[in-house]
Amino acid sequence: MAKKNNPANNIQDLQFFGEFGGVNPSIADSSTFTYLAGKTMGDVFEGNREGCYLYSRHTNPSTSYLGQALANMENTKGAILSASGMGAITTTLLQLCSAGDEIISSRTIYGGTYAFMKNYLPKFNIKTNFVNTTKLSEIQNAITSKTKVIYCETMSNPLLEVSDIKSIAKIAKEKGIKFVVDNTFTPLIFSPSIMGADVTIHSLTKFINGTSDTVGGVVCSDEEFISEMIDVNTGSAMLLGPVMDSMRAASILKNIRTLPLRIKKHSHNALYLSIKFQKDGLRVVYPGLENHPQHNLMKKSMNEDFGFGGMFVIDALTKDKANELMEEMQERNLGYLAVSLGFYKTLFSAPGLSTSSEIPEEERETMGLSDSLVRISIGLDDDIERTYETMRECMQHVGIL
Ligand code: PLP
Repeated sequence: MAKKNNPANNIQDLQFFGEFGGVNPSIADSSTFTYLAGKTMGDVFEGNREGCYLYSRHTNPSTSYLGQALANMENTKGAILSASGMGAITTTLLQLCSAGDEIISSRTIYGGTYAFMKNYLPKFNIKTNFVNTTKLSEIQNAITSKTKVIYCETMSNPLLEVSDIKSIAKIAKEKGIKFVVDNTFTPLIFSPSIMGADVTIHSLTKFINGTSDTVGGVVCSDEEFISEMIDVNTGSAMLLGPVMDSMRAASILKNIRTLPLRIKKHSHNALYLSIKFQKDGLRVVYPGLENHPQHNLMKKSMNEDFGFGGMFVIDALTKDKANELMEEMQERNLGYLAVSLGFYKTLFSAPGLSTSSEIPEEERETMGLSDSLVRISIGLDDDIERTYETMRECMQHVGIL
């Protein structure tokens, strides 16, 4: 029997020693590194010497430790950190595409990624075709001789659609197209590289860091692609420079140790509330519910120990009720009316009015992204029954239950 993939073990097994035997690696608080011989520095610049640090926009020991941890988690040979998730996404796409190339992207993606593809990349004559990536035929029909990248999120923001990564990877391989997957919503739950993705991206700002105190991003891929990204002459990460600071890398590395525990708890809480609110008669979107269109696909392809994720969406019937509900939930200390996700306290926002507002209204309508939806990133609440009772009272108060 094939060995079950458990990315949590790959985190557990990380063994880093600090400079003085510390149990956490020392922080390399330097932007530049010394050389004893001028010739060695020349060799490093020419890419002929491994393992030497030169300048922290290129690599830094602290970002390398975190990169190694994330590469282990994603089962890739390499990883490069960036100062934000958008820094990871934009540099990846600019590395893979040149003028005249095309991207096929899921139409339900994070609003910033959508805006970059729709409004920014055309300045470089790079065009994006937005399709429903849960329908393989739409991807196949959009492929042209110019297609360089297929892009999707494992679980899409904010509609929680799940893409069939294995099948899309097969299509991409057959056509020699690179397949890039944003795994921000589902760290540990999905392992896109094992399913055939060429590049896996995360916004570390969310679940992976988990404390909403920093932004950060990572690109996980093979050594060849990561080397290309940090090439001193042609690498987008090196030349555009959205580099992560070593202090932040060190703090995220500590937080990642608790990620498996946190993801299990987020998933447990989200499933609990989704089942309860669905029973109460609300329209709930959550991939752990049997009526979710990709529930069975997800069950087949996920790393089963980590659940269906910490995000769920409820329909508050109208935009005004959505706003009223979020204000009431904040008032009752259930969490914060704030964008972002993966925090230890619950965060809620109405994506149609915030993080997905970059997507034009008529396109939001076709994809079912209405202004009445409330996206909830459930926190690590210990007593989820108590949270349910209070949330239900808020819903009763605003008249949706
Ligand atoms: N990808 C997804 C799925 C996101 O939700 C976000 C931000 O909300 C990003 C990428 C961008 O990440 P960052 O805000 O760290 O730049």
